Amino acid sequence: MTRVFSGIKPTGHLTLGNYLGAMRQWAAVDQHQADALFCVVDLHGMTVDHDPARLRRLTRQAATLLLAAGLDPELCTVFVQSHVDEHTRLSYVMECVATDGEMRRMIQYKEKVASEGARGRGVRLSLLTYPALMAADILAYGADEVPVGDDQAQHVELTRDLAVRFNQRYGHTFVVPKATVPAVAARVMNLQDPTSKMGKSDDSGPGIVYLLDEPDVIRKKVMRAVTDSGREVVYDREERPGVANLLEILAACTDGNPESLATVHDSYGALKQATAEAVLETLRPVQARHKELCADPGYVEEVLRHGAEKARAIARPIVDTAYRAIGLLPPG
Ligand code: ATP
Ligand code: MG
Repeated sequence: MTRVFSGIKPTGHLTLGNYLGAMRQWAAVDQHQADALFCVVDLHGMTVDHDPARLRRLTRQAATLLLAAGLDPELCTVFVQSHVDEHTRLSYVMECVATDGEMRRMIQYKEKVASEGARGRGVRLSLLTYPALMAADILAYGADEVPVGDDQAQHVELTRDLAVRFNQRYGHTFVVPKATVPAVAARVMNLQDPTSKMGKSDDSGPGIVYLLDEPDVIRKKVMRAVTDSGREVVYDREERPGVANLLEILAACTDGNPESLATVHDSYGALKQATAEAVLETLRPVQARHKELCADPGYVEEVLRHGAEKARAIARPIVDTAYRAIGLLPPG
């Protein structure tokens, strides 16, 4: 059976981008078709400036939202990265396989260095080594596929390179994984700046739809989305990024296709209206389930405890094999 692994960082409140680009696929497809593991990657959440209480709160919230989005612990494994030591054990090995140059070439590193720098903060060393930990996350489970949004494809590509290099140098140990990116909404853009990705740790609140936003807030954000001075609804990512973004969101929420939806709506106002309603419709069940789950925190805790146990049982032997292969003396 295909093994799937993916993760989400508790660096902020989860967004419509996280949902359409990743979580929705995990719930609708991956957990049914594969042996799937989904992880709240809290260690990655410490690669940028963080507040301990907030990190803990967001970790619990992200896990709750994964379940609210439809992940079923009977069908897949949901857990928290720091609960399974194998991630950090293997991450160090990956740092011994990767090069400094490879890490510095990562687009996410360059972008986050720029934003951390602009906020006047020092750049954490862990931000540079992030892809080594992410490679460990994936390789520790022998994952064949990694369902992610478009922005994470480069990290998965590096993970492949590291797996191949390790296998060549030290003997076949790792499955070489590949990224799977959704056909629509692989990169949901910020509603106020449709040339940048909607990211949960960005500061621009009005351009980001959070999964737990109130319905009237969502409606307002979509209705105020930046478009352009044209009037005709056409799907053109280069020339009309704002309108294209709305068409993609609408398509993702209605199982449609952005080109044909462009011919259905004859004004920006009508397109925004339809998009707002479609987003509300899509998020309604997630918000309702989230509310129910919040009333039962013991359940979420139990899911995470059991998930970590299952994850550990898979990762332990794979990481042990890697330790032996690379030349570490096994303990007695
Ligand atoms: P951060 O700003 O902290 O990097 P993020 O919103 O980018 O947060 P991640 O935790 O980095 O979220 O990514 C979780 C998953 O969501 C990944 O698979 C990523 O590719 C996907 N994803 C994130 N943002 C978007 C987006 N705007 N459109 C589509 N997919 C996205
Ligand atoms: Mg990200």
